[in-house]
Amino acid sequence: MKFSPMNYTPLVLVADDDHFIRVLVKDALEAEGFRVAEVADGREVLSTFSRMNPDIIILDVVMPGRDGFRLCREIRATESGHTVPIVMMTGLDDIDAVRKSYAAGATDFITKPLNIPLIGYRIQYIYRSNRTLEKLKQSETRLVDALKIANLGSWEMDLDSGNDYWSQEVYTIFGMEPGDGVISHDVFLNAVHPEEKEAVAARMEKAFFEENDFSIECRILTKNGRTRTILTKARINRDEKHKATWAAGFIQDITERKEVEEKIRLLAYYDTLTGLPNRILFHDYFSHAVAFATRTKTQIGILFVDLDRFKLINDTLGHAVGDKVLKDVASRLDAGIRKYDYIARERVTDIDAEVARFAGDEFIVLLKNVRDHFDAAKVAQRIQDSLTMPYIIDGSEIIVTPSIGISLYPVDGENLEDLIKFADIAMYHAKELGRNNFQFYSRSLDTTAKDHLILEGQLRNAIKRNELFVCYQPIIHVPSFEITGIEAVVRWRHPERGILSAASFVPMAEETGLITEVDEWVLFTVCKQIKEWQDRSDHSWMVTVNISGRNFKKRTLVETVGRALQSSEIDPRWLKLEITEGVLIDKDGYVVSALNNIKDMGIRLALDDFGTGYSSLGYLRKFPLDILKIDKCFVKDILIDPDCASITTAIIALAKSLKLDIIAEGVETKEQMELLLEKGCEKQQGNYFSPPLSLTDLEVLVRHNSTRLSDRTADTGHGFGGQPVLVSS
Ligand code: C2E
Ligand code: MG
Ligand code: MG
Repeated sequence: MKFSPMNYTPLVLVADDDHFIRVLVKDALEAEGFRVAEVADGREVLSTFSRMNPDIIILDVVMPGRDGFRLCREIRATESGHTVPIVMMTGLDDIDAVRKSYAAGATDFITKPLNIPLIGYRIQYIYRSNRTLEKLKQSETRLVDALKIANLGSWEMDLDSGNDYWSQEVYTIFGMEPGDGVISHDVFLNAVHPEEKEAVAARMEKAFFEENDFSIECRILTKNGRTRTILTKARINRDEKHKATWAAGFIQDITERKEVEEKIRLLAYYDTLTGLPNRILFHDYFSHAVAFATRTKTQIGILFVDLDRFKLINDTLGHAVGDKVLKDVASRLDAGIRKYDYIARERVTDIDAEVARFAGDEFIVLLKNVRDHFDAAKVAQRIQDSLTMPYIIDGSEIIVTPSIGISLYPVDGENLEDLIKFADIAMYHAKELGRNNFQFYSRSLDTTAKDHLILEGQLRNAIKRNELFVCYQPIIHVPSFEITGIEAVVRWRHPERGILSAASFVPMAEETGLITEVDEWVLFTVCKQIKEWQDRSDHSWMVTVNISGRNFKKRTLVETVGRALQSSEIDPRWLKLEITEGVLIDKDGYVVSALNNIKDMGIRLALDDFGTGYSSLGYLRKFPLDILKIDKCFVKDILIDPDCASITTAIIALAKSLKLDIIAEGVETKEQMELLLEKGCEKQQGNYFSPPLSLTDLEVLVRHNSTRLSDRTADTGHGFGGQPVLVSS
């Protein structure tokens, strides 16, 4: 339909060869508010029509050049002529012309001779009714389109006669073609998904007997085998005896909406990577669990599971691998806890468990129906066992271990936040105890956590207050029993707590970033000490300073080392820096260039705690290292654990093939020393020889041994005379 603005004056095209008639019609129509265009020649009607696009046409049946019926058909065949009202002018009694006019598609006719006073009204009436009809058609089309878009079909049931009406859209929703038969109440029920059929039938029956409005949401199986979710809402009419006589309603295909809702639900309550519930859903579980625990007088266990050194996997093997590991961990946790009821219990009652991803590599497990610590411990042990099994990711084997902290409701706390916090504190304690174990929360741990905070504040002042000092642990060349080097480790003379080892505050200093200040202080102190030894020229050995990876992040290391060398004026060959494997994660090549710069200054580099991280051969080759240090965890069990022994052998072989020097640390017994020596590791350090010593003790030890050295060299040729040096710091 043509769009007509407000105050629009409709245009009438009058096609008649009779000039007189045209004038009369024009006057009459203009008086009625129309605009009028005229055509006298039949051959020009079509072109004038398409040029002027009139709102109504009055067409004479007999015109020179074209007959009116044919013209009418031709206009109808054009796109805009489809709906335009065409009024034919026929002879008074010419029934045949009237019939032909309708057959040609005319809207109406007027007869000649014309009743001029009436013609204006007549045309006005035809024009208006045509517009109304068009509007109706248009709104019907809009409605059909809207129903289609909304996947909405309507239906009616005459419950007395059994006559049903189901709109075309209902057929489309049910996947039915016109030839598939008619939809009825039974056809509808038959299509309902088998799992829901019974409930829907019962629901509908109840509605027909008792309700005036009802709404049912269910799944159907369409004729073409698809599962759709539909919603039908209906109104029921009843007679005076309350018997349902008629029902009408609509059916809507809400499958897409349901899918979107499900997606939103998943996003809101589940972790997208692992598919596990997130914190929000976990809160819900906890509320239910509390109700259950109160009812049954049982406890709830909260297990905080954190993967050890997971960051290293992400950093060295990439996030894609990290994600795969997390997914595997999640599915092991999820599958694992479902079995606990059988495995963790000897007695009959079940432990019900839920697992959620808390953040990054942290998961929380909720255990319901826990009677005592032992129940929770058994589950924790199983989780630990199952997570420690190797993961095969893209063909390579990865080992991940968990540290688990456990808190119990209601003994440790009554709300989830507290319980998670306490389980987290316990988990940290598990980490401190060497990772890969589980620990229960206790109040004393809480104090430890608070202590950490206090300690952090105090460390900030420790440097200024001169509370830090350096201890020196000799590194022994075992075949000659001579001191071949010294490792400097930092100590803190704490005003209240006494002397603190590096292990008790360096991790905290690393977390807070204070370590860079500590390292700078140690480096300057050691350089000054080296200078003093050089000046006295009584003994010269290489001194190692531990450098935290944090210094590389700050990118100040090269400059700090340069300053330390300059201000102390030492010969750089007496200085060695020890870095840990984590440092070698070098995303933009900064670390390798910094290490090269340091090497260029003449300083040597050692890789500490080797074997505990994820160093690959590629890494080792890339960096300008001189020494590998075998971590004390391998040395500790070298005599009892074949794995430790073979890893140690492999590290020694690796170092040799890369032409790197090797040092074993943490040597505590003669047997360890001998086995390491047998495997080819000549340089060793550890309490067997000497713990880290204060400067005074070190000098005493050296003096003592140099006399012993001169005593013994005559008969044994060994610096330390083959004896362990037992001097306590
Ligand atoms: P590390 O570099 O592997 O140092 C060896 C640690 O093992 C030292 O602990 C040392 O006291 C201890 N140790 C030595 N011999 C034995 C032994 O026979 N048995 C056992 N079980 N342990 C032994 P410490 O001094 O508490 O240092 C711990 C870690 O803290 C060091 O491990 C090092 O990574 C770090 N560290 C120490 N001083 C500094 C420092 O000035 N700066 C930085 N960034 N880190 C430091
Ligand atoms: Mg070290
Ligand atoms: Mg070490």
